[in-house]
Amino acid sequence: MIKKIDHIGIAVHSIEQAAKLYEALLGLKITATEVVEEQKVKVAFLPTGDSEVELLESTDPEGPVAKFIAARGEGIQHLAFRVDNLEEMLAALKAAGVRLIDEKPRHGAGGAKIAFLHPKETFGTLVELCERKDQEV
Ligand code: ZN
Repeated sequence: MIKKIDHIGIAVHSIEQAAKLYEALLGLKITATEVVEEQKVKVAFLPTGDSEVELLESTDPEGPVAKFIAARGEGIQHLAFRVDNLEEMLAALKAAGVRLIDEKPRHGAGGAKIAFLHPKETFGTLVELCERKDQEV
């Protein structure tokens, strides 16, 4: 049911600063930015072939990305897998006894439906499952 790595989320203090590396030096392009109020975060997407880098900048010192950086420093914050049917996947994982942060899909950046698994279940890596309407990207 997993199709590919959809994106890798990287927590940064400043998207503007990080863009200097990713755009000017690595040649990627930010194709969209968006504020996700629910997660207290600004995101920037940089497509890289079949997947994307998602830069995450906190908009609130109490937000999850700010807390992540305070505890662990900047760096990879989560790994997102593309799935065909998020609700079905969550139901199957729940039935198998996997601990979930989100038992129901919620709204993510770019109009995606997303849900996070509990990092205790995924060997310390926060895993996001992501379903998109425009499944071509
Ligand atoms: Zn993500």
